[in-house]
Amino acid sequence: MEAERKAMVAVLRRYKITDERVLEAMAKVRRHAYIPEGIRRRVDPYGDHPCPIGYGQTISQPFIVAYMTQRMELKPGERVLEIGTGSGYQAAILAELKATVYSIEIVPELAAHARKVLAAEGYGRVILMTGDGYKGWPEHAPFDAIIVTCAPNEIPKALVDQLKDGGRMILPVGTGIQQLVILKKTGDTFTEIPDIHVRFVPMVKGEE
Ligand code: SAH
Repeated sequence: MEAERKAMVAVLRRYKITDERVLEAMAKVRRHAYIPEGIRRRVDPYGDHPCPIGYGQTISQPFIVAYMTQRMELKPGERVLEIGTGSGYQAAILAELKATVYSIEIVPELAAHARKVLAAEGYGRVILMTGDGYKGWPEHAPFDAIIVTCAPNEIPKALVDQLKDGGRMILPVGTGIQQLVILKKTGDTFTEIPDIHVRFVPMVKGEE
């Protein structure tokens, strides 16, 4: 699948993904491995579109994964929290950038799938939890960066509280057509930068 990945990276370059570390990670992580076996045969894992992963969920299209990763400007060793582990693919990309990755998934079957694939693909150091991402992961906070890969209606306050000074969060916000928002925290000040329109699955409310 290396040729497919090279072709995918060529498309990403055309779409103005310029961060070489991100491109390298996208070239290295075996995207097809994250798509459950029963589905893999019916889809093109490296095509520029989202792929189903079961339970009504999808892995984002390669461009969106690369774009959000690039906008996080992660440095090696930074601590990042992902909400919506899904297949584990985005988590693997973040791990490939040498971040310490924490990731929360609400659907237990997907969390189990991601745990298995990440271990098999050499990313067993990604720290996973089955649970409700609205609460974040206070025990491991604060984080340098938070990436949300499902869409809440509003920016979840608990997540903002778990950002470090100098930290940033990237997330889709809204219902139907959503907008990516990049939130930066400097001291007590927050800056919200609206970005491109996207379409993610909704972030569901867990049980109280
Ligand atoms: N990042 C994933 C794709 C995520 S799809 C990947 O690379 O494959 C969105 C995921 O968010 C789904 O798996 C969905 O179950 C999960 N999700 C939805 N609401 C959530 C919540 N409140 N907390 C944690 N995960 C949630």
